[in-house]
Amino acid sequence: MPNTERTPGVVAGRLADDALAENFGDLHEPLDAHEAMVAADRCYFCHDAPCITACPTSIDIPLFIRQIQAGQPEGAAKTIFDQNILGGMCARVCPTETLCEEACVREAAEGKPVEIGRLQRFATDALMPKAHPYERAPETGKKIAIAGAGPAGLACAHRLAMYGHKVVMFEARSKPGGLNEYGIASYKTVDNFAQEEVDWLLGIGGIEMVYDHALGQGDLTLDALTDKYDAVFLALGLSGVNALRAEGEEHAHVLDAVDFISELRQAANKSTVPVGRDVVVIGGGMTAVDAAVQSKLLGAENVTMVYRRPRERMSASEYELHLATSKGVRIVTGATPTRLMGNEHVTDIEFAYTEDGPDGLQQTGETFTLKADQVLKAIGQHLDGAPGVIKLDGGKIAVDENGRTSLPKVWAGGDCATGGDDLTVTAVAEGRDAAEDIHQAIC
Ligand SMILES: Cc1cc2nc3c(=O)[nH]c(=O)nc-3n(C[C@H](O)[C@H](O)[C@H](O)COP(=O)(O)OP(=O)(O)OC[C@H]3O[C@@H](n4cnc5c(N)ncnc54)[C@H](O)[C@@H]3O)c2cc1C
Ligand code: SF4
Repeated sequence: MPNTERTPGVVAGRLADDALAENFGDLHEPLDAHEAMVAADRCYFCHDAPCITACPTSIDIPLFIRQIQAGQPEGAAKTIFDQNILGGMCARVCPTETLCEEACVREAAEGKPVEIGRLQRFATDALMPKAHPYERAPETGKKIAIAGAGPAGLACAHRLAMYGHKVVMFEARSKPGGLNEYGIASYKTVDNFAQEEVDWLLGIGGIEMVYDHALGQGDLTLDALTDKYDAVFLALGLSGVNALRAEGEEHAHVLDAVDFISELRQAANKSTVPVGRDVVVIGGGMTAVDAAVQSKLLGAENVTMVYRRPRERMSASEYELHLATSKGVRIVTGATPTRLMGNEHVTDIEFAYTEDGPDGLQQTGETFTLKADQVLKAIGQHLDGAPGVIKLDGGKIAVDENGRTSLPKVWAGGDCATGGDDLTVTAVAEGRDAAEDIHQAIC
């Protein structure tokens, strides 16, 4: 008998291949040319447009929409890439509902913003299959090392390469892209787009990729890099995962949500990824939503997301929470895990109800238990393996407004550094801006 939604335990192949293909298809279908014109026509081309201010990379949104309207999608893409070289990925993954589209005057007036994200995708998709649109300045003879090939590192590398510097990227994993490749939900970036985008970005030239090399391992030390290179940019992301600190956390089938998501992203065939019948996801952010939704899409019968504080304190947006509930995920707030039960494998998880009081979060004394043959932990990540000598602030690498760290010749940006939200677009902005400052400093 094939496995189904009701098969007990953690098993692969709950759904047939065609159902999986449908479930993991593009979350937002791309606009066709006519739809893009209609969407572009809704823009008022505001003076001092609030959508530009709301974009962490400050893309000139009214300009690129006007270029689409004028039948120049490739020009529109160039406007986007001038500010955000990963504009193709950001068009797919940005929480536009809390950024540019939330700020759009048509959202305030009618509750229906201009579809900026989808228009951005329309434009970038038009240009990316063509030749790389930027030329490299003549060689400067300067060399910069970048540790981490996620969005922050890649954006920094591209800008530096454009200025004619030589860039060497050291990446701990065997593929580039960071969380674009290993973290973002499958239905937001289909068809191997993350790798295609990196290949396209590297079309600038002058960027050497060194995989399976982690800063801090072997002779790849920060000292060695600062000796050999004119500048170093740290774009390490947050690779440590926070623990629940609840009794029984060591049971089998209690996983970090990021590992579950990564396995799913890397699987050639999603039917090979095992998922529970009763899945409990702990956390209230984007990672929790992605893990919960993807468990459901893989065929789990019951998926419950549990967050310790009230709903309004969840870091996932209302849009994402709505997406989760629309896929059948149940959301429980105001409860914290106290005990995971089972023999070898987890079978149940006990929660205590909580209340936010003047002294912080308190347990009320009342408990409840959920059936759980798989528990996915999504309660945050932290910086792991920062060079010991560097100054930290709140667990992240302390940087000034130009991305400069406490050490000479060393910059940092993206999730591993202080300032800004942990979003792809913010990482791109910080990588780009650090590159501008490095360029000023070394030339
Ligand atoms: C599950 C999940 C889903 C998300 N979904 C979204 C979303 O939909 N939209 C959105 O805007 N944001 C989303 N985010 C956040 C977004 O992915 C991050 O903010 C963004 O990727 C940060 O980019 P980064 O370059 O700073 O770090 P990362 O993307 O984490 O890249 C860091 C890179 O550094 C490498 N590295 C680590 N240590 C070393 C070392 N010692 N030496 C060399 N290399 C090293 C890593 O392997 C990695 O490739 C999500 C995050 C997660 C975890
Ligand atoms: S705020 Fe909205 S209407 Fe105004 S320029 Fe931006 S996208 Fe267009």
